[in-house]
Amino acid sequence: SIPSVVRTRFAPSPTGYLHLGGARTALFSWAYARHHQGVFVLRIEDTDLERSTPEAVQAILDGMQWLGMQPDEGPFYQMQRMDRYREVIAQMLREGSAYLCYSTPEEVEAMREKARAAGLKPRYDGTWRPEAGKTLPPVPADRKPVVRFRSPLQGSTSWNDVVKGPISFDNAELDDLVIARTDGTPTYNFCVVVDDWDMKITHVLRGDDHINNTPRQINILRALGAEPPLYGHLPMILGPDGEKLSKRHGAVSVMEYDKQGYLPEAMVNYLARLGWSHGDDELFSREQLVEWFDTRSLSKSAAQWDPKKLNWVNAHY
Ligand code: GLU
Repeated sequence: SIPSVVRTRFAPSPTGYLHLGGARTALFSWAYARHHQGVFVLRIEDTDLERSTPEAVQAILDGMQWLGMQPDEGPFYQMQRMDRYREVIAQMLREGSAYLCYSTPEEVEAMREKARAAGLKPRYDGTWRPEAGKTLPPVPADRKPVVRFRSPLQGSTSWNDVVKGPISFDNAELDDLVIARTDGTPTYNFCVVVDDWDMKITHVLRGDDHINNTPRQINILRALGAEPPLYGHLPMILGPDGEKLSKRHGAVSVMEYDKQGYLPEAMVNYLARLGWSHGDDELFSREQLVEWFDTRSLSKSAAQWDPKKLNWVNAHY
């Protein structure tokens, strides 16, 4: 069943322009929220200080504006939410769903190596994980700890992906994820979790390169007593040659298409058709997209970028 207020988000990392894959993800999230009279949130995931730039933020805003995908809330910036992340980390430490880990990177690497040698998934061995009746090692005075999430050891973590169907991960394969580094800064998956929770996101549509993050995010949300959103993972867009999108084909800013004279309506129409269908309809307006959009008609397999088709669509506007 669909929650009464649908809230979706687009959460780009501002490390470059808005490319076709990102634009399509945003478009589906936008159309889904609009279809359900919901709320579309824009969140800028700018915690990678080395790679994030204000120019990229502007390029993303420009691309979204050109395509007519105005957020109802945001942009929110993760760098402005650091106090909130620290607060939730402190809460988890208090409640015991996270713990301080003083193992050094070299020690952790050795643990991983050991697991690998035993034919197991490389993982942290739980040295600092508190257990009933277990005595922890003495705290080394010269070390700063990371904070690890106490991930469930038994069972599995599953969800019914709105694009791909049922997906399940064996919990034995999920590590006790680091949620805060030695300098106290929160890690990527943790920020996403706190944001999706605080922003009351009901549906996450994102690229399927995030599938491995999802069970981790679900487990952290559950530890916080939060109901995880529904997740849908979109297959990637391939180039006309069947390979990963290259610079020659589409792996450029959507604004390049503006420069080349393509109409935003045609771009929206064609992007929507990449991985979503409405019967045999090839040409439709933004309003029709909103009226017709549903996640059931999202494709499970990778879509192929076809410049000839884009030209054909553009010629009809
Ligand atoms: N910031 C991530 C990216 O640009 C997306 C995270 C998400 O949608 O959960 O790939």
